[in-house]
Amino acid sequence: MGAQSGTLLWRNQLRNEDTFTVLTNNTCNLACDMCYLGENIKPEILSTSNMFRIVEEINNNPIISTLGIVGKEPYVNKKSTDLTNYTITHLRENGLKSSVITNGSKLNTLIPGLSLPDYMDISLDGGPKTYGIQRKTLSGKQGDYDEVMKGVEKVLDSHFRTEVSFLNTIYSGDTGNFSEYAIADMMIPILKYQSHEKFHTAIFSPMMETKRGSEFSVDEPNLCDFLELLSQNQDFMDSDKTKIQLSSENFENSDERKKVSNKIEELDLLEKLIYISEKELKAGTRINHTGQRFDLIDGVHIENWNIEVK
Ligand code: SF4
Repeated sequence: MGAQSGTLLWRNQLRNEDTFTVLTNNTCNLACDMCYLGENIKPEILSTSNMFRIVEEINNNPIISTLGIVGKEPYVNKKSTDLTNYTITHLRENGLKSSVITNGSKLNTLIPGLSLPDYMDISLDGGPKTYGIQRKTLSGKQGDYDEVMKGVEKVLDSHFRTEVSFLNTIYSGDTGNFSEYAIADMMIPILKYQSHEKFHTAIFSPMMETKRGSEFSVDEPNLCDFLELLSQNQDFMDSDKTKIQLSSENFENSDERKKVSNKIEELDLLEKLIYISEKELKAGTRINHTGQRFDLIDGVHIENWNIEVK
């Protein structure tokens, strides 16, 4: 669900607005097992003229106030960072808002040079002990949790009024984070920052398998087990910043939906739940790095994209 817009869909649901997201590029400095984007596509970046047209379109649309900038990783290199910065500034000058989803690994080195968005979702999937297992660099080394947290501190300390959220996608399998231990670890940064005035939400969502052109080495968790696992963590239950995000795309059929909805009631998780309906996903727009346009469901299935393979 992070892939479909992070916290922006939920915010827009509350505001009764449509969701509009754009991929500035198709490259990343990390290689996560659960990433919905394939790695065998030719590296490219959205053109400035395409981005300019997108901002214009939002400007003329009364039911969209925020552009979601989704990467693959918006801050992966100088060209993409410059485009992201330019877009955020341009939106702000036009009275519009921006939301960025990032892995956070470059924030410490890039701030104070960044024009920060109104909303920033940082994908973690782990805490100090497990982050490096989930998030690996392209050369296979463990990702650097401390570096990401230095970036988080800089965002929170900056003069921008950026609302920070953490995204935790849960997946099972050998390198998965579907365990009591991993959930407790994910709660460590949440407990540290949850009372900060600029900290907004920590979203937990189950991995959603897509057709990305290569096999996943991890699996979608069973939804009822996913809910049980979260409900067993007292810090998760007690925090007023933790939410569970599910969408119509998480359910195979109406039987599964019924079972999950009973489980939510049984575990007293209703107040934690953010549910995004198919109607909202279909009404949303995703523009990929080549300028192709999709709804938010089709946009995460890269077999729909007209792209060159490396
Ligand atoms: S950080 Fe995000 S975009 Fe990059 S590989 Fe991981 S899931 Fe994919």
